[in-house]
Amino acid sequence: MSSIGIVGAGIAGLQLGLFLRRHGISCTLYTDRSSDEIRSSRLPSTAALLGSTRRRDRELGTNHWDDDAFGCFYVDVRVKGLPELSSRGRIDPPALFIDMRLYLPRLLEDFEARGGRVVRAGALARSDVERLGQKHDLVVVASGRSDLSTMFPRDFDRSPWLEPQRRLFAGLFRGIDFPEELGLLFQIVPGHGEIFESQLLTAEGPVTCLLFEAIPGGVLDAATRVPCDDDPHVVESLVLDLLEANAPSVHDRVDRQIFHLTSPGDCMQAAIVPTARRAYVDLGEGRYAIAVGDAFATHDPVLWQGANAASRGAWALGEAIVQAVTLGRPLDRRFCEGMDERLWSLVGPSMHWTNAFLSPPPPHTMAIFSAASRDQSIADAFASNFDDPALQWRIFRGPEGASAFLEGFRGPRTRRGLGMTVAPASA
Ligand SMILES: Cc1cc2nc3c(=O)[nH]c(=O)nc-3n(C[C@H](O)[C@H](O)[C@H](O)COP(=O)(O)OP(=O)(O)OC[C@H]3O[C@@H](n4cnc5c(N)ncnc54)[C@H](O)[C@@H]3O)c2cc1C
Repeated sequence: MSSIGIVGAGIAGLQLGLFLRRHGISCTLYTDRSSDEIRSSRLPSTAALLGSTRRRDRELGTNHWDDDAFGCFYVDVRVKGLPELSSRGRIDPPALFIDMRLYLPRLLEDFEARGGRVVRAGALARSDVERLGQKHDLVVVASGRSDLSTMFPRDFDRSPWLEPQRRLFAGLFRGIDFPEELGLLFQIVPGHGEIFESQLLTAEGPVTCLLFEAIPGGVLDAATRVPCDDDPHVVESLVLDLLEANAPSVHDRVDRQIFHLTSPGDCMQAAIVPTARRAYVDLGEGRYAIAVGDAFATHDPVLWQGANAASRGAWALGEAIVQAVTLGRPLDRRFCEGMDERLWSLVGPSMHWTNAFLSPPPPHTMAIFSAASRDQSIADAFASNFDDPALQWRIFRGPEGASAFLEGFRGPRTRRGLGMTVAPASA
């Protein structure tokens, strides 16, 4: 009977493990943290799960937070300037901003309840993965952007930078009135980065989540350098100043008397180098390790793609393993080479689109924002297409795709601009 070892209990490792268990495949998950340790850890991210990731959760029966009243129902894009450009598009189906300290422990418990074996190991090293290769038919490394991912060679053609293009500050706050309808504010501050405001579901209920994506050295960068753990009042007062100057539509809803960080562990600072890797390594004796999720392709979070790409890749890997096991085919080099191509075909578009967005917006991108501010159908298409990065990349990769997309709204309307005819992306 085939046995799969998975290293890492993030969304990629857990959705894969749950998928394999659903198909009766024996599976062991090696985690460096127990459910309770994940629950009590520092804020790891501020992830929005998009429609297709939520659909996969429904298929796995892990959609514990489906609630029609709570979600992210629109994206309000604002580009600071004179005049400010603004558009508000409906996200259909709605996304869910959820604290991974709520989501992951529950899925880990689901995995165990469904017959998955959980081994609480420390942080595994490459030599441990090699050892696991002798125990399992395939070892899947789903360890996020931790050092373990460096066992997979970096793909320099697919990873344009060696330095982060944004520095990040994220924090959970009370004292900002929720907007009338829950949604995401995506405030672009040209030359300086982006500010996001959303409502995140946490173990204590929904709270306001702020994410600053700062261009190093720009005005937002101060938030990413202020000592997060020292005095929360210093962080709070800096955040308020930055909101007042750069995101007035959020600042207008602040009650200064009660504005505060929800707890010292509810903020994080990071800087991510967008990186793509080869998906597999040879462990010797005919055994292989394969990377999925951030270990394979790490996105900057500016377009909320990383966890969704991790879920998409994990699902595809799960399907391929089930198919190989059912047909009695080995999980060998050929399998891994095929998976490398398949995974890149699935997550390459979100990497390209995200990386393009980290550079100053070219005229065709500004033309779409401008058209979205005048035409509701274009704003709605832009918002819903976040869940279709292959389509977004065809639209945003150059002037031709952007014109074809906008042209699609001149004739008979298609809801998401899918009537466009552009050459398929080959990058
Ligand atoms: C501020 C911020 C905002 C974000 N917003 C979004 C968003 O809106 N939408 C979105 O889709 N994505 C978003 N992301 C990205 C998203 O969080 C990641 O892409 C996603 O978590 C990757 O999932 P994963 O399962 O690959 O890795 P992870 O979630 O990082 O999980 C990896 C797991 O492996 C464990 N591990 C690590 N090393 C080892 C080891 N050596 N041995 C054993 N276990 C190990 C870790 O403890 C962890 O549990 C955001 C990220 C950040 C930082």
